[in-house]
Amino acid sequence: METKYTYGPVPSRRLRFSLGIDLIPFKNCSFDCIYCQLGKTTNKTIKRKEYLPTEEILKGVEEILKNNDRIDYLTFSGSGEPTLHSKIGYLITELKKITEIPVAVLTNSSLLFMPDVQEELSNADVVLPTLCGTTQEIFNKINRPIPDLNIEKVIRGLVDFRQLYKGRIWLEIMLIKGLNDEQMNLDKLRMVVEKIAPDRIHLNTVVRPPSEKYALPLSIEELQRIEKIFGDNAEIIASFKAKRGSVYLLDTERTILEVVKRRPVTLDDICSLTSLHRNEVLKYLDQLHRAKKVKLTEHDNRNYYEIL
Ligand code: SF4
Repeated sequence: METKYTYGPVPSRRLRFSLGIDLIPFKNCSFDCIYCQLGKTTNKTIKRKEYLPTEEILKGVEEILKNNDRIDYLTFSGSGEPTLHSKIGYLITELKKITEIPVAVLTNSSLLFMPDVQEELSNADVVLPTLCGTTQEIFNKINRPIPDLNIEKVIRGLVDFRQLYKGRIWLEIMLIKGLNDEQMNLDKLRMVVEKIAPDRIHLNTVVRPPSEKYALPLSIEELQRIEKIFGDNAEIIASFKAKRGSVYLLDTERTILEVVKRRPVTLDDICSLTSLHRNEVLKYLDQLHRAKKVKLTEHDNRNYYEIL
């Protein structure tokens, strides 16, 4: 079941089964990132307002919660930057009154320098900001921000927010071939990331069709090299094609593992929980079985998959 302002729950690389809550209509954003999978920003803005009706959003989520018991996160996102919605703080507070499901906020980090945004996000359980670089040149090339924004302000916002915020920060670093993957940029990024002190660092690259064709991905080997620079808290969240040819997505594998971890499940259970096709699920189960990550057991003439 979906409502006008929600989607999912969808299997997510970072947030397992995540109910997306759309706070912003297409496509209001403070950035126009070259890697954006939504397409070009049609209204580049930093103006905060009630872009979509707050009470209707809340009612929609309440409805979904009544009928759904497999949501791991309620995730504020949208077809643009969710912190542009001026009632995001109110929505987080209201949701925390009606459910114990953790609330996550995806943000491009651009408004975190604003004290009211910092305050409004304080009740979220996890904030997932993105950062691509530390210089204005990289910022302009990759994120193409509204002119009022400069990268120092964005970084200062992230550092200040870390000081005030008691929840978890999972910082995404989006890497684009030839634009922000040079050693000098990575060294500067590492120093800034140390100041931000996120709980986790998620390394990503362009794996979905980007707004601009010249936004190219890094290879898994390149990302693995960069992962070492950022230390133990860093992990690669981008998914890749398997070398042998067939498409094998790491996030789909993780999603299936998340399902199997909870309890023994049949093939049909996995298909209905992940909305993946039977043949697709079988391909991953076969791989996971061979990698000794799952085992097959039989009970009452039915086959079950369990974690090993
Ligand atoms: S910040 Fe997000 S929504 Fe906005 S342009 Fe960049 S990728 Fe797209």
